[in-house]
Amino acid sequence: MLVREILNSTSEPVFSFEFFPPKKEEEWNTLFATIASLTSLNPSYVSVTYGAGGSTRSKTHDLVTRIQKETGITVVSHLTCVCSDREETSSILENYLENGINNVLALRGDKPQGVATLAEAIKDFEHAADLIRFIKIRFPAIGIGVAGFPEGHPETPNRLKEIDYLKEKIDAGADYIVTQLFFDNRDYFDYVERCAIAGITVPIIAGIMPVSTKKGMIRMSELALGARIPAPLLKQVLESDSDRDVAEIGIDWATRQVQELIDQQCKGIHFYTLNLADATLKIFRNIRQ
Ligand SMILES: Cc1cc2nc3c(=O)[nH]c(=O)nc-3n(C[C@H](O)[C@H](O)[C@H](O)COP(=O)(O)OP(=O)(O)OC[C@H]3O[C@@H](n4cnc5c(N)ncnc54)[C@H](O)[C@@H]3O)c2cc1C
Repeated sequence: MLVREILNSTSEPVFSFEFFPPKKEEEWNTLFATIASLTSLNPSYVSVTYGAGGSTRSKTHDLVTRIQKETGITVVSHLTCVCSDREETSSILENYLENGINNVLALRGDKPQGVATLAEAIKDFEHAADLIRFIKIRFPAIGIGVAGFPEGHPETPNRLKEIDYLKEKIDAGADYIVTQLFFDNRDYFDYVERCAIAGITVPIIAGIMPVSTKKGMIRMSELALGARIPAPLLKQVLESDSDRDVAEIGIDWATRQVQELIDQQCKGIHFYTLNLADATLKIFRNIRQ
């Protein structure tokens, strides 16, 4: 089923989970155990990330196909402009369609390791909108989602341009937006309003990832993610003595975020699971109490 059809078929919020392909063979069984426990929550779809170049890319295709075959759940495969040309993209998508996979998240990707500049890794598609235009013409049966950045993408010159470029992706044919993780729902609600002003009417799925360790929180605030940690969350995390406490704080914070998003009729919530089940299961238990 196309994700846009799933989104159109219900007035309830849609839940989805993101996984990445493990590098080591022995981690695959653990991942499938995680997938089994999370699919018991009845998600509307799951998605699989795509590495910025390198050996994990074929593992994405393997994982997407295996999830589809073994669970029957709708799978969205992430696809990037970085390190991809028309020919490779066509062959991936032909293969997906043959295996009953018809959803992708079209992304530009970030600079992979081993190249000096992003430009070196760009082949036929410079921006996600270019990839979307290609897919729409060559593979009209594929449903397309795109990334959105409520706090702004680190490379975008300003927040107005941010929405202009997002609109270009929607006008190119994207069906829905999945946001980067955020910790302050006000950023998401403001983003949704700014999208509406620009005439963007597709569903905007909120990306949620709980803080799990102090180190993890610092990583989330750095580099590509660049998440703003609200002062009350920062204070609680910095004052806690153990990672176990931090994980509980993160789950509690994310639960309140998810509950408010549901209360405010958010169309969908996407959990960045990091291939772990525990935090997501606890958040669901909390909101279903
Ligand atoms: C939900 C989600 C899932 C992700 N999954 C993956 C993944 O699996 N693999 C991976 O490698 N990365 C992934 N990423 C990261 C993503 O690839 C990076 O954040 C990347 O830097 C931006 O991707 P994009 O698709 O938004 O790119 P684009 O929309 O192409 O934007 C990239 C930059 O170019 C600018 N831009 C866009 N259009 C134009 C234009 N016409 N003219 C000038 N500038 C323009 C934008 O403002 C932005 O700064 C994901 C991000 C999100 C939010």
